Amino acid sequence: MTHEGFKLRILFVDDDSALRETSGLILKSFGYDVRTAEDGFQALVELRSVLPDLIVSDLRMPNMSGFELLSIVRKRFPHIPVIAISGEFFGQGTTAPLADAFLMKGQYRPEQMAAKIVELIEESPLRPHVPKPDKAPVWVPVNGKGYFVLTCPACLRSFSEPRTELADAASEAECPACMTKVRYILDVHSCGHN
Ligand SMILES: [Zn+2]
Repeated sequence: MTHEGFKLRILFVDDDSALRETSGLILKSFGYDVRTAEDGFQALVELRSVLPDLIVSDLRMPNMSGFELLSIVRKRFPHIPVIAISGEFFGQGTTAPLADAFLMKGQYRPEQMAAKIVELIEESPLRPHVPKPDKAPVWVPVNGKGYFVLTCPACLRSFSEPRTELADAASEAECPACMTKVRYILDVHSCGHN
């Protein structure tokens, strides 16, 4: 698929190397320029160099999860459409704003993913359902240690914060690099995974 003479760029993020490779080949066969990343941190490195037209991301990954990555993408790049792939159903409640579409892992056909990509790119940039960037907190995985690592949506640098009481409401921390106030939610779903 081309757009004004340019190939549309897709960033595909998944920790499963076989899935990354096959999905990359499939998306290329649909005419997209595909880049891949194996976790959220690598995806952020990609985002620093070339901005994709759309991101497809797994939610469960080691290092930086898809929850954290997508919440950062929502704040920093709210114009980029996102498809989340997960083995669990997350398209409701607090997780619903993280992605424009959800696909069940292993239960979708490549054509369905391609159709969803076309649909989301066609409706972009008319994206009224995307939350205001300043209202969307960053999701942070809980690692069982006395601290957690938060990535600043403004400068994309990571820093650690002491672990405090689990709060239902979003808390706030200040990025030591650029002083941006970062609102966050501790992702209790990440307990027991990875
Ligand atoms: Zn910062």
